[in-house]
Amino acid sequence: MNKENTVRRAGGFIIQLMPFASEEVISVLENRIEKIHSVTDMLEKGMTPEDLLKEVLGDLGVDITDKIPTKFYCNCSKERVSKALVSISKKDLDEMIADGKDIEVNCHFCNTNYVFTPEDLKKIANNR
Ligand SMILES: [Zn+2]
Repeated sequence: MNKENTVRRAGGFIIQLMPFASEEVISVLENRIEKIHSVTDMLEKGMTPEDLLKEVLGDLGVDITDKIPTKFYCNCSKERVSKALVSISKKDLDEMIADGKDIEVNCHFCNTNYVFTPEDLKKIANNR
């Protein structure tokens, strides 16, 4: 974190054992992971994801077969979010329409706020 509470770096790793992993490999991994203090520290030192892999896996033999860029992305839309409103009972939906107020629905994944007007709610009610 930076002093103004913004994120400077973030990272982590997941190790998944294959079903045939031997006890020997597991104990080598456990020993190496014990020696790792903090991913943040490694990133602060300028280590790349490839460096992290080598640090974690040591001489177990790292073979990089693919690299995929990561990004913060959510494929939500007002239409997708409106599908969540389908689960509201007709009675509740009719009450919301009668209230005549906009309602706000937040995407649980990215926190985008979608506003539904009573007109929107009527359309949802009519499409049942
Ligand atoms: Zn979203």
